[in-house]
Amino acid sequence: MEKRDKQQSMLSVEEARDRVLRACHTLDPERVSMLDSLNRILAEDIVADVDIPPYANSAMDGYAVRASDTRGATRDVPKRLRVIGDLAAGYVADTAVTQDTALRIMTGAPLPEGADAIVRVEDTDIEGDSVNIYVSATSGQFVRPAGQDLRRGERAMERGTLIRPQELGVLAALGIETVSVGRRPRVGILATGDELVEVGEPLAPGKIRNSNSFSNFAQVVQAGGIPVLLGIARDRADELSAKIRGALDQRVDLLITSGGVSVGDFDIVKDILAAEGEIDFWRVRMKPGKPLAFGHIGNRQTVRGDHDTRRIPVIGLPGNPVSAMVSFETFLRPAILQMQGAGTLYRRTVDAVLADSIPDKDDRRHYVRVCLTYHAGQYHAHLTGDQDSGILSSMVKANALAIIPEDWREAPAGSRVEVMLLD
Ligand code: AMP
Ligand code: MG
Repeated sequence: MEKRDKQQSMLSVEEARDRVLRACHTLDPERVSMLDSLNRILAEDIVADVDIPPYANSAMDGYAVRASDTRGATRDVPKRLRVIGDLAAGYVADTAVTQDTALRIMTGAPLPEGADAIVRVEDTDIEGDSVNIYVSATSGQFVRPAGQDLRRGERAMERGTLIRPQELGVLAALGIETVSVGRRPRVGILATGDELVEVGEPLAPGKIRNSNSFSNFAQVVQAGGIPVLLGIARDRADELSAKIRGALDQRVDLLITSGGVSVGDFDIVKDILAAEGEIDFWRVRMKPGKPLAFGHIGNRQTVRGDHDTRRIPVIGLPGNPVSAMVSFETFLRPAILQMQGAGTLYRRTVDAVLADSIPDKDDRRHYVRVCLTYHAGQYHAHLTGDQDSGILSSMVKANALAIIPEDWREAPAGSRVEVMLLD
């Protein structure tokens, strides 16, 4: 009884998340082609083995000159220089710029020997085989020095970095064709409930469609995981057991269930998960999403008779659609990112002013569905509608979750709050 009470005490969000994160270890990295690395997490530091750019080059279309030759030049009193040639990007000048000469040059072409500045074409006029320079150039102007972007030996990107389009560009610039990235965890997704039917099935009296599996599916994809849909388990011990074993056969690295963790149907899920591994039921001091199950499955005799020693973390999300999504955000997104070795596990937050008061504030941390706007120098968080944990449409209208601390007894309009951005 005492043990049970302990299991049932309220955990803070941080405590619960710490326990989840401690069980979700970073998977061994894998090497993929640079083209397949988008949205993956770098598992190695990337060090530049060349200067980028590799040579000093022109930042403008114009003329490569010796700055000292243009001293004092103005519109009214231009300086006249003899044009000794033309240089396009991709080629190297075969003549040096000497006193009172200029080389016509395109953006990106290497700075010719002798020149130390570029005069933009807009600040010149061509006259026969000479050019009139209308401005006095300073040494180095419009010249991009070698290594301006990255120096040889410099760390260009750190392990744990999410590879976005710009990181892909840097890999390409450095000539890196394959890269080590965190393995994407296979995440099994199992819905539970006698009331559930699949998307393609007609509704019958007393039935609703399984939506959690699909919002969770999308959340897994966005967190970089590989979702493995495991269907619906009826609220029966044998079915739940079979589905959990199915998850192990599909070699998932993490299992998510939804439903069956509230007080009503608590015991069947608890018993089954306990039989297949070990499980705790927690109450987390948050709203929505108070009930949460957490444990491990695995370490079992397989059908072939050998022993499977993998311990797979399993998280039982509450069944209400918004609770399932918010609990995923809070516990599973960081866990899936950590499994890939990500350096940043949490969403960005901003300070905002509450545009509406939050109803029914209790002593839990409330995650409130809001639409964030920016005007008059600050963010404003507008409630998107009914905050009941079954109302998915107010999640659809939301682009952020306002986080109302546990110790606030009320949250009136005008209060300043932390808001977690969802996109
Ligand atoms: P439970 O935690 O199983 O008691 O479920 C709580 C509420 O969430 C009930 O109204 C369920 O019908 C609903 N629910 C449970 N699982 C799902 C699901 N996969 N998709 C949509 N609603 C669900
Ligand atoms: Mg249920």
